[in-house]
Amino acid sequence: MLDKIVIANRGEIALRILRACREMGIKTVAVHSNADNNLKHVLLADETVCIGPANSTESYLNMPAIISAAEVTDAVAIHPGYGFLSENADFAERVESSGFTFIGPPASAIRLMGDKVSAIQAMKSAGVPCVPGSDGPLGEDIDDVIKMARDIGYPVIIKAAAGGGGRGMRVVHAEASLAAAITVTKAEARAAFGNDTVYMEKFLEHPRHVEIQVIADSHGNAVHLGERDCSMQRRHQKVIEEAPAPGITEEQRNRIGGRCVQACKEIGYRSAGTFEFLYEDGEFYFIEMNTRLQVEHPVTEMITGVDLVREQLRVASGEELSIRQEDVHIDGHAIECRINAEDPKTFMPSPGLINLYHAPGGPGVRIDSHIYSGYKVPPYYDSMIGKLIAHGADRDAAIARMKNALTEIVIEGIKTNVPLHQEIFQHAAFHRGGTDIHYLEKRLGLT
Ligand code: ADP
Repeated sequence: MLDKIVIANRGEIALRILRACREMGIKTVAVHSNADNNLKHVLLADETVCIGPANSTESYLNMPAIISAAEVTDAVAIHPGYGFLSENADFAERVESSGFTFIGPPASAIRLMGDKVSAIQAMKSAGVPCVPGSDGPLGEDIDDVIKMARDIGYPVIIKAAAGGGGRGMRVVHAEASLAAAITVTKAEARAAFGNDTVYMEKFLEHPRHVEIQVIADSHGNAVHLGERDCSMQRRHQKVIEEAPAPGITEEQRNRIGGRCVQACKEIGYRSAGTFEFLYEDGEFYFIEMNTRLQVEHPVTEMITGVDLVREQLRVASGEELSIRQEDVHIDGHAIECRINAEDPKTFMPSPGLINLYHAPGGPGVRIDSHIYSGYKVPPYYDSMIGKLIAHGADRDAAIARMKNALTEIVIEGIKTNVPLHQEIFQHAAFHRGGTDIHYLEKRLGLT
């Protein structure tokens, strides 16, 4: 097993990784910016290294500083968490060429799946269903592109191959605006991602976001852990996630999960990963793969009993997965609310001192959060300060527990989106389940 690792992240996920390491007897090095001296995992880590100023470009994104921290502390591996450098193939490569283990997939898999065009091509050849579309980059000949859009049928969406974070895409409803949309999306993609390759997909009007969790080792074993529904979104940011996805049958789960496992084997995947799909009228359409641990991984852990970070650490140390597909069983239902330091109405970030914090509890309630009374939320990073997760025998039981937990939680001194969650949990449509990705914004009057 790995002896000592660097946790190259911050906040709740750094703490999550630290906890798994401690359970497994792995020593930890917390690398942090100078705005993060009081982070909970920094206070708990075996060793700490300040890697730079608050600005993440000079700290959490500073590859040489992170690799030097591993060198000076004699660590053997680096866990990137999510965000920051977690999906940066160059970082994975530099970690490995410096003699450390990257706790994640091989750089080649990150690179392949990081380009959406090559990802879609790889998925198609592995038999994973994709959105009907251009099957590759759009060429220069506008007549060809116009014909393609007619064949696919409007509306279509023009997407940047290198896009991410909901940026670099444009919906086109009619032929008259197609050429201009391509020109603008290309220009934006060139400016934002340094790559103006774009492709076309059919624009699905009322999809749900359903994703499949996988984990693979370096011995050719891969399993899927079922799906999560993350349709409750605002500006392409997930707000509430749940597992299993309402209405998905075991047969559907096994079929799409099996395809994802096959795809992992074909692309030489290792570690945890997520295949994201749009789901409409009973069909799954692959949109992209996240080659890392995800924020919402706990809902899968709660219903399968599999500790995904533990499996990542095992796999990175060269061991086999501790589970086979036939060991994966779904037990009940889990829901996660992302708790953000923000105004629940305007969504403006609300950093500052938390002068009082009471965590909810009771059976089936889990909190993944680094906050404590007296902790000051810095203004420099993502506003998510934790995740509240409720597990129950079925969806209604999970909802009942979450409602309780949302009334118990106390975070004073800053504004949080807890009131927004309390409101969503009153919606009849949410109780029915299976709302599409536009539901929340419509309900909030944002569209
Ligand atoms: P990103 O990497 O920027 O997150 P994705 O490809 O995952 O980009 O797409 C982000 C979101 O954009 C999706 O969750 C969905 O809401 C919307 N979207 C993307 N492709 C389509 C499509 N073909 N039809 C409808 N909505 C889409």
